[in-house]
Amino acid sequence: LFISFEGVDGVGKTTQVERLRQYLESRDRTVLVTREPGGTPLGATLRRLLLGNVADDAADIAPRAEALIFAADRAQHVAETIRPALERDEVVITDRYLDSSLAYQAGGRELTAKEIRDLSLWATNNLLPVRTYLLDMDPAASHARLQHDEDRMESAGDDFQNRTRRAFLDLAEAEPERFRVIDAAQPIETVWTQIRVDIDDLLGY
Ligand code: C5P
Ligand code: MG
Repeated sequence: LFISFEGVDGVGKTTQVERLRQYLESRDRTVLVTREPGGTPLGATLRRLLLGNVADDAADIAPRAEALIFAADRAQHVAETIRPALERDEVVITDRYLDSSLAYQAGGRELTAKEIRDLSLWATNNLLPVRTYLLDMDPAASHARLQHDEDRMESAGDDFQNRTRRAFLDLAEAEPERFRVIDAAQPIETVWTQIRVDIDDLLGY
């Protein structure tokens, strides 16, 4: 079972991923939690390239180069981590997956959604999550919750973040069977309850 969490920075993906892991483990499932970018050793190197400090050269990565680096990270992530775990019949929960590329590299920047989608599907050999939780909230509010110094992406500005949010919502609308959109401005417990109800339904609990 392959599940992804998506949404702009600071919406609480990491917290909800952890809740879901604990819940599924309490149900005797073996769970692998992972994330993008940076879910593998190669990915960790690529992540450093992508998220370099605001001041350094990473800010000059061309849009197509950036898209390819994210795709390379994802290709390695699927081959090395995700597919083997799915073959062992584990639940894989990833903090971001290809919808992040569609929202950030296509929605936020100058490449088309089709280009990014084709690239991502090639990189993953067409592996899509069964369920994607989109944690949605106003980027101005979520950005204020970030508890670390911002990286290159996080400092990209309000317009970019708003376009990214819109792109996520459009993706969810286009694939209602896969996506569940959850209002992430609600209290953490409320967000979690909505996810749990859906997971129970998905797993027939
Ligand atoms: O979620 P996390 O903070 O690990 O993501 C790292 C950064 O990379 C985020 O700031 C996000 O905005 C950006 N990102 C991106 N394109 C992706 C995935 C993440 O621009 N495909
Ligand atoms: Mg971040």
